[in-house]
Amino acid sequence: MGRFHRFFEMGKGVGHNCGKHFGTAQREQNARPVKPKIIMNRNVEKLESMLSPCRICPRECGVDRAAGEVGACRAGMAATVSSIGKHFGEEPPISGSRGSGTIFFTRCNLSCVFCQNHQISQPGGREPGLPYSPEELAEQMMALERAGAHNINFVSPTQWTPQAAKAIVLSREAGLTIPIVWNSNGYERVETIRLLEGLVEIYMPDFKYGQDDSAVRLSNAPRYPEIAAAAIREMFRQVGELTFDESGVAQRGVIVRHLVLPNGLAGTRSVLCSLATEVSPNVFVSLMSQYYPTHRAREFRELRRSVRRSEYAEALRALEEFGLSRGWSQDYREAPLRFRPDFEDDAPFEEWD
Ligand code: SF4
Repeated sequence: MGRFHRFFEMGKGVGHNCGKHFGTAQREQNARPVKPKIIMNRNVEKLESMLSPCRICPRECGVDRAAGEVGACRAGMAATVSSIGKHFGEEPPISGSRGSGTIFFTRCNLSCVFCQNHQISQPGGREPGLPYSPEELAEQMMALERAGAHNINFVSPTQWTPQAAKAIVLSREAGLTIPIVWNSNGYERVETIRLLEGLVEIYMPDFKYGQDDSAVRLSNAPRYPEIAAAAIREMFRQVGELTFDESGVAQRGVIVRHLVLPNGLAGTRSVLCSLATEVSPNVFVSLMSQYYPTHRAREFRELRRSVRRSEYAEALRALEEFGLSRGWSQDYREAPLRFRPDFEDDAPFEEWD
Protein backbone atom coordinates (compact mmCIF):
# COMPACT_ATOMS: atom_id res chain seq x y z
CA MET A 1 0.00 0.00 0.00
CA GLY A 2 1.89 3.09 1.05
CA ARG A 3 3.30 5.03 3.96
CA PHE A 4 1.49 4.37 7.18
CA HIS A 5 1.62 5.93 10.62
CA ARG A 6 0.69 4.22 13.79
CA PHE A 7 -2.19 5.90 15.53
CA PHE A 8 -2.48 3.39 18.30
CA GLU A 9 -0.90 3.07 21.67
CA MET A 10 -0.94 -0.25 23.40
CA GLY A 11 -4.01 0.67 25.43
CA LYS A 12 -7.16 -1.24 24.58
CA GLY A 13 -10.09 0.24 22.75
CA VAL A 14 -12.90 1.26 25.03
CA GLY A 15 -15.74 0.24 22.73
CA HIS A 16 -18.88 2.08 21.79
CA ASN A 17 -22.44 0.97 21.65
CA CYS A 18 -23.65 2.89 18.52
CA GLY A 19 -26.89 0.95 18.52
CA LYS A 20 -25.41 -2.53 18.06
CA HIS A 21 -24.45 -5.27 20.48
CA PHE A 22 -21.06 -6.78 20.93
CA GLY A 23 -20.76 -10.17 19.28
CA THR A 24 -19.11 -13.26 20.66
CA ALA A 25 -15.84 -12.82 18.81
CA GLN A 26 -13.89 -11.62 21.85
CA ARG A 27 -15.00 -14.50 24.00
CA GLU A 28 -14.21 -17.05 21.30
CA GLN A 29 -10.91 -15.69 20.13
CA ASN A 30 -8.78 -17.96 22.27
CA ALA A 31 -10.21 -21.09 20.66
CA ARG A 32 -7.28 -21.71 18.33
CA PRO A 33 -7.01 -25.45 17.80
CA VAL A 34 -3.88 -26.72 16.14
CA LYS A 35 -5.21 -28.80 13.27
CA PRO A 36 -3.53 -32.04 12.35
CA LYS A 37 -2.41 -32.58 8.77
CA ILE A 38 -5.25 -34.96 7.99
CA ILE A 39 -7.83 -32.25 8.80
CA MET A 40 -5.94 -29.73 6.69
CA ASN A 41 -6.01 -32.06 3.71
CA ARG A 42 -9.69 -32.77 4.26
CA ASN A 43 -10.40 -29.03 4.34
CA VAL A 44 -8.57 -28.58 1.05
CA GLU A 45 -10.64 -31.40 -0.47
CA LYS A 46 -13.84 -29.73 0.77
CA LEU A 47 -12.73 -26.44 -0.76
CA GLU A 48 -11.92 -28.14 -4.07
CA SER A 49 -15.37 -29.74 -4.11
CA MET A 50 -16.88 -26.25 -3.82
CA LEU A 51 -15.56 -25.36 -7.29
CA SER A 52 -18.12 -27.52 -9.12
CA PRO A 53 -20.67 -26.01 -8.85
CA CYS A 54 -18.77 -22.96 -7.67
CA ARG A 55 -19.88 -21.56 -4.34
CA ILE A 56 -16.51 -20.37 -3.15
CA CYS A 57 -17.65 -16.79 -2.62
CA PRO A 58 -20.96 -15.11 -1.73
CA ARG A 59 -21.93 -14.84 -5.40
CA GLU A 60 -22.44 -18.62 -5.47
CA CYS A 61 -22.49 -18.56 -9.28
CA GLY A 62 -22.99 -22.32 -9.49
CA VAL A 63 -20.82 -22.71 -12.60
CA ASP A 64 -18.79 -25.89 -13.06
CA ARG A 65 -15.25 -24.56 -13.04
CA ALA A 66 -13.74 -28.04 -13.41
CA ALA A 67 -15.66 -28.35 -16.69
CA GLY A 68 -14.31 -25.05 -17.96
CA GLU A 69 -17.24 -22.81 -17.05
CA VAL A 70 -16.51 -19.40 -15.56
CA GLY A 71 -18.62 -17.25 -13.28
CA ALA A 72 -18.58 -13.60 -12.33
CA CYS A 73 -14.89 -13.60 -11.39
CA ARG A 74 -13.85 -15.30 -14.69
CA ALA A 75 -11.53 -17.62 -12.75
CA GLY A 76 -10.93 -21.08 -14.14
CA MET A 77 -9.19 -23.99 -12.45
CA ALA A 78 -5.50 -23.03 -12.58
CA ALA A 79 -4.70 -20.07 -10.37
CA THR A 80 -3.23 -17.20 -12.38
CA VAL A 81 -0.69 -14.82 -10.92
CA SER A 82 0.52 -11.49 -12.25
CA SER A 83 3.33 -10.56 -9.89
CA ILE A 84 5.48 -12.23 -7.23
CA GLY A 85 8.08 -10.45 -5.14
CA LYS A 86 8.98 -8.70 -1.94
CA HIS A 87 6.92 -5.62 -1.25
CA PHE A 88 7.80 -2.88 1.26
CA GLY A 89 4.69 -0.69 1.04
CA GLU A 90 2.32 -2.68 3.26
CA GLU A 91 1.48 -1.75 6.85
CA PRO A 92 4.68 -1.66 8.98
CA PRO A 93 4.27 -5.02 10.78
CA ILE A 94 3.56 -6.75 7.44
CA SER A 95 6.46 -5.23 5.46
CA GLY A 96 8.88 -5.24 8.37
CA SER A 97 12.48 -4.53 7.41
CA ARG A 98 12.88 -7.31 4.85
CA GLY A 99 9.60 -7.01 2.94
CA SER A 100 6.37 -8.95 2.55
CA GLY A 101 6.43 -11.86 0.09
CA THR A 102 3.52 -10.82 -2.11
CA ILE A 103 1.78 -13.06 -4.63
CA PHE A 104 -0.69 -11.00 -6.68
CA PHE A 105 -3.44 -13.21 -8.04
CA THR A 106 -5.33 -12.10 -11.12
CA ARG A 107 -9.12 -11.73 -11.45
CA CYS A 108 -11.48 -10.69 -8.64
CA ASN A 109 -14.95 -11.53 -7.39
CA LEU A 110 -15.71 -7.80 -7.09
CA SER A 111 -15.84 -5.27 -9.91
CA CYS A 112 -14.96 -1.99 -8.20
CA VAL A 113 -15.15 0.90 -10.65
CA PHE A 114 -12.19 2.58 -8.89
CA CYS A 115 -9.94 -0.51 -8.59
CA GLN A 116 -6.29 0.54 -8.52
CA ASN A 117 -5.32 -3.01 -9.56
CA HIS A 118 -7.75 -3.05 -12.48
CA GLN A 119 -5.00 -4.08 -14.92
CA ILE A 120 -4.93 -7.51 -13.28
CA SER A 121 -8.35 -7.78 -11.67
CA GLN A 122 -10.92 -6.60 -14.18
CA PRO A 123 -12.10 -7.68 -17.65
CA GLY A 124 -10.12 -5.96 -20.37
CA GLY A 125 -7.10 -5.56 -18.10
CA ARG A 126 -3.86 -5.88 -20.02
CA GLU A 127 -2.21 -8.29 -17.60
CA PRO A 128 -3.87 -11.75 -17.69
CA GLY A 129 -1.22 -13.40 -15.51
CA LEU A 130 0.39 -16.81 -15.77
CA PRO A 131 -1.07 -20.10 -14.53
CA TYR A 132 0.55 -21.67 -11.47
CA SER A 133 -0.18 -25.12 -10.08
CA PRO A 134 -0.33 -25.43 -6.26
CA GLU A 135 3.09 -27.15 -6.43
CA GLU A 136 4.54 -24.21 -8.39
CA LEU A 137 2.97 -21.74 -5.98
CA ALA A 138 4.49 -23.61 -3.03
CA GLU A 139 7.91 -23.41 -4.73
CA GLN A 140 7.51 -19.64 -5.11
CA MET A 141 6.52 -19.35 -1.46
CA MET A 142 9.63 -21.24 -0.38
CA ALA A 143 11.76 -18.98 -2.62
CA LEU A 144 10.26 -15.87 -0.99
CA GLU A 145 11.10 -17.21 2.46
CA ARG A 146 14.66 -17.94 1.33
CA ALA A 147 14.85 -14.36 0.03
CA GLY A 148 14.09 -13.11 3.54
CA ALA A 149 10.38 -12.22 3.30
CA HIS A 150 8.66 -11.92 6.67
CA ASN A 151 5.49 -13.56 5.42
CA ILE A 152 3.65 -14.86 2.34
CA ASN A 153 1.06 -12.29 1.33
CA PHE A 154 -1.73 -13.63 -0.91
CA VAL A 155 -3.28 -10.58 -2.59
CA SER A 156 -6.83 -11.03 -3.95
CA PRO A 157 -6.94 -14.79 -3.28
CA THR A 158 -10.70 -15.29 -2.78
CA GLN A 159 -11.60 -16.74 -6.19
CA TRP A 160 -8.59 -19.08 -5.91
CA THR A 161 -9.17 -20.17 -2.31
CA PRO A 162 -8.91 -23.97 -2.92
CA GLN A 163 -5.76 -23.60 -5.02
CA ALA A 164 -4.18 -21.25 -2.47
CA ALA A 165 -5.10 -23.56 0.42
CA LYS A 166 -3.49 -26.50 -1.37
CA ALA A 167 -0.33 -24.46 -1.93
CA ILE A 168 -0.23 -23.57 1.77
CA VAL A 169 -0.43 -27.24 2.77
CA LEU A 170 2.30 -28.19 0.28
CA SER A 171 4.58 -25.35 1.39
CA ARG A 172 4.18 -26.27 5.07
CA GLU A 173 5.05 -29.88 4.19
CA ALA A 174 8.15 -28.53 2.45
CA GLY A 175 9.16 -26.61 5.59
CA LEU A 176 7.75 -23.08 5.16
CA THR A 177 7.82 -21.37 8.55
CA ILE A 178 6.69 -17.76 7.96
CA PRO A 179 3.06 -16.63 8.45
CA ILE A 180 0.49 -16.63 5.64
CA VAL A 181 -1.33 -13.32 5.10
CA TRP A 182 -4.81 -13.49 3.51
CA ASN A 183 -5.13 -10.06 1.87
CA SER A 184 -8.66 -10.01 0.48
CA ASN A 185 -11.54 -7.71 -0.43
CA GLY A 186 -13.76 -8.94 2.41
CA TYR A 187 -16.50 -10.30 0.12
CA GLU A 188 -16.16 -13.88 1.33
CA ARG A 189 -18.40 -16.69 2.56
CA VAL A 190 -18.06 -17.62 6.21
CA GLU A 191 -18.31 -21.31 5.17
CA THR A 192 -15.23 -20.89 2.95
CA ILE A 193 -13.19 -18.91 5.48
CA ARG A 194 -13.99 -21.52 8.14
CA LEU A 195 -12.10 -24.10 6.06
CA LEU A 196 -8.96 -21.95 6.18
CA GLU A 197 -8.71 -22.27 9.95
CA GLY A 198 -5.20 -23.40 10.85
CA LEU A 199 -3.87 -22.54 7.38
CA VAL A 200 -3.87 -18.74 7.60
CA GLU A 201 -2.15 -16.86 10.42
CA ILE A 202 -2.94 -13.25 9.46
CA TYR A 203 -6.14 -12.04 7.84
CA MET A 204 -5.96 -8.61 6.22
CA PRO A 205 -9.42 -8.04 4.69
CA ASP A 206 -10.85 -4.83 3.33
CA PHE A 207 -14.10 -3.58 4.82
CA LYS A 208 -15.03 -1.41 1.85
CA TYR A 209 -18.60 -0.29 2.40
CA GLY A 210 -20.94 0.36 5.25
CA GLN A 211 -23.92 0.91 3.00
CA ASP A 212 -25.45 -1.46 0.49
CA ASP A 213 -26.34 1.08 -2.21
CA SER A 214 -22.68 2.07 -2.75
CA ALA A 215 -21.59 -1.57 -2.68
CA VAL A 216 -24.07 -2.46 -5.41
CA ARG A 217 -23.47 0.60 -7.55
CA LEU A 218 -19.67 0.77 -7.32
CA SER A 219 -18.63 -2.88 -6.88
CA ASN A 220 -21.70 -4.92 -7.89
CA ALA A 221 -21.59 -6.46 -4.44
CA PRO A 222 -25.06 -6.96 -2.94
CA ARG A 223 -25.17 -7.22 0.86
CA TYR A 224 -21.47 -6.35 1.10
CA PRO A 225 -21.72 -4.72 4.58
CA GLU A 226 -23.29 -7.72 6.29
CA ILE A 227 -21.23 -10.25 4.32
CA ALA A 228 -17.92 -8.55 5.11
CA ALA A 229 -18.83 -8.11 8.78
CA ALA A 230 -19.66 -11.82 9.11
CA ALA A 231 -16.46 -12.88 7.30
CA ILE A 232 -14.30 -10.62 9.48
CA ARG A 233 -16.01 -11.93 12.63
CA GLU A 234 -15.05 -15.46 11.57
CA MET A 235 -11.48 -14.36 10.81
CA PHE A 236 -11.21 -12.73 14.23
CA ARG A 237 -12.63 -15.83 15.89
CA GLN A 238 -9.86 -17.90 14.29
CA VAL A 239 -6.80 -15.75 14.89
CA GLY A 240 -7.84 -12.96 17.30
CA GLU A 241 -5.99 -9.76 17.99
CA LEU A 242 -2.77 -8.95 16.15
CA THR A 243 0.37 -10.24 17.81
CA PHE A 244 3.99 -9.39 16.98
CA ASP A 245 7.45 -10.85 17.37
CA GLU A 246 10.15 -9.05 19.31
CA SER A 247 11.00 -6.85 16.30
CA GLY A 248 7.41 -5.73 15.75
CA VAL A 249 6.62 -7.99 12.79
CA ALA A 250 3.07 -9.41 12.79
CA GLN A 251 2.76 -13.11 13.54
CA ARG A 252 -0.98 -13.71 13.88
CA GLY A 253 -4.25 -11.81 13.97
CA VAL A 254 -6.47 -9.51 11.95
CA ILE A 255 -5.86 -6.12 10.29
CA VAL A 256 -8.89 -4.54 8.63
CA ARG A 257 -8.33 -2.05 5.82
CA HIS A 258 -10.79 0.70 4.99
CA LEU A 259 -10.35 3.12 2.10
CA VAL A 260 -12.17 6.40 2.69
CA LEU A 261 -14.04 7.45 -0.48
CA PRO A 262 -15.08 10.99 -1.47
CA ASN A 263 -18.58 12.19 -0.65
CA GLY A 264 -19.08 9.60 2.07
CA LEU A 265 -19.54 6.81 -0.47
CA ALA A 266 -17.74 4.21 1.64
CA GLY A 267 -20.06 4.70 4.62
CA THR A 268 -16.99 5.00 6.84
CA ARG A 269 -18.84 5.66 10.10
CA SER A 270 -21.00 2.61 9.63
CA VAL A 271 -17.95 0.43 8.80
CA LEU A 272 -16.09 1.56 11.90
CA CYS A 273 -19.17 1.17 14.06
CA SER A 274 -19.61 -2.42 12.82
CA LEU A 275 -15.99 -3.23 13.53
CA ALA A 276 -16.16 -1.85 17.05
CA THR A 277 -19.43 -3.50 17.96
CA GLU A 278 -19.65 -6.66 15.85
CA VAL A 279 -15.96 -7.66 15.79
CA SER A 280 -13.98 -5.98 18.59
CA PRO A 281 -12.81 -2.49 19.56
CA ASN A 282 -9.36 -4.09 19.81
CA VAL A 283 -9.15 -5.06 16.13
CA PHE A 284 -6.35 -3.28 14.25
CA VAL A 285 -7.56 -0.90 11.55
CA SER A 286 -5.67 0.56 8.60
CA LEU A 287 -7.52 3.72 7.60
CA MET A 288 -6.47 4.75 4.10
CA SER A 289 -6.70 8.13 2.38
CA GLN A 290 -5.06 7.06 -0.89
CA TYR A 291 -8.15 7.03 -3.11
CA TYR A 292 -7.66 8.49 -6.57
CA PRO A 293 -9.98 8.28 -9.60
CA THR A 294 -8.80 5.41 -11.78
CA HIS A 295 -10.29 2.68 -13.98
CA ARG A 296 -13.98 3.65 -14.50
CA ALA A 297 -14.24 6.10 -11.58
CA ARG A 298 -14.60 9.14 -13.83
CA GLU A 299 -17.92 7.78 -15.07
CA PHE A 300 -19.27 8.56 -11.58
CA ARG A 301 -19.46 12.25 -10.73
CA GLU A 302 -19.00 11.72 -6.98
CA LEU A 303 -15.82 9.69 -7.55
CA ARG A 304 -13.97 12.17 -9.77
CA ARG A 305 -11.87 13.75 -7.02
CA SER A 306 -9.57 12.66 -4.21
CA VAL A 307 -10.70 12.55 -0.61
CA ARG A 308 -10.71 15.97 1.04
CA ARG A 309 -8.64 16.66 4.12
CA SER A 310 -11.85 17.34 6.05
CA GLU A 311 -13.32 13.98 4.99
CA TYR A 312 -10.25 12.08 6.15
CA ALA A 313 -10.18 14.06 9.41
CA GLU A 314 -13.81 13.10 9.99
CA ALA A 315 -12.93 9.43 9.46
CA LEU A 316 -10.10 9.71 11.99
CA ARG A 317 -12.51 11.26 14.50
CA ALA A 318 -14.93 8.37 13.97
CA LEU A 319 -12.18 5.90 14.88
CA GLU A 320 -11.78 7.70 18.16
CA GLU A 321 -15.49 7.94 18.72
CA PHE A 322 -15.94 4.17 18.33
CA GLY A 323 -12.94 3.36 20.51
CA LEU A 324 -10.85 1.85 17.70
CA SER A 325 -7.47 2.86 19.04
CA ARG A 326 -5.14 0.42 17.31
CA GLY A 327 -3.84 0.62 13.75
CA TRP A 328 -2.47 2.94 11.11
CA SER A 329 -3.40 6.06 9.21
CA GLN A 330 -1.83 7.59 6.10
CA ASP A 331 -0.37 10.99 5.29
CA TYR A 332 -3.25 12.91 3.80
CA ARG A 333 -1.25 15.17 1.46
CA GLU A 334 0.93 12.62 -0.28
CA ALA A 335 -1.48 9.72 -0.43
CA PRO A 336 -3.33 10.21 -3.73
CA LEU A 337 -0.26 10.76 -5.88
CA ARG A 338 2.08 8.13 -4.53
CA PHE A 339 0.21 4.86 -4.65
CA ARG A 340 -0.30 3.95 -8.29
CA PRO A 341 0.87 0.47 -9.22
CA ASP A 342 1.65 -0.39 -12.82
CA PHE A 343 1.35 -4.10 -13.45
CA GLU A 344 2.77 -3.73 -16.94
CA ASP A 345 6.05 -2.81 -15.26
CA ASP A 346 8.33 -5.56 -13.93
CA ALA A 347 8.27 -3.80 -10.55
CA PRO A 348 4.68 -2.53 -10.20
CA PHE A 349 5.35 -0.82 -6.87
CA GLU A 350 8.80 0.59 -7.44
CA GLU A 351 7.97 4.18 -6.51
CA TRP A 352 6.28 3.15 -3.28
CA ASP A 353 9.03 1.02 -1.81
S1 SF4 B 1 -15.42 -17.63 -6.93
FE1 SF4 B 1 -16.03 -16.76 -8.93
S2 SF4 B 1 -17.22 -18.37 -9.97
FE2 SF4 B 1 -17.08 -18.92 -7.78
S3 SF4 B 1 -18.92 -18.11 -6.83
FE3 SF4 B 1 -17.34 -16.51 -6.62
S4 SF4 B 1 -17.53 -15.17 -8.42
FE4 SF4 B 1 -18.68 -17.07 -8.85
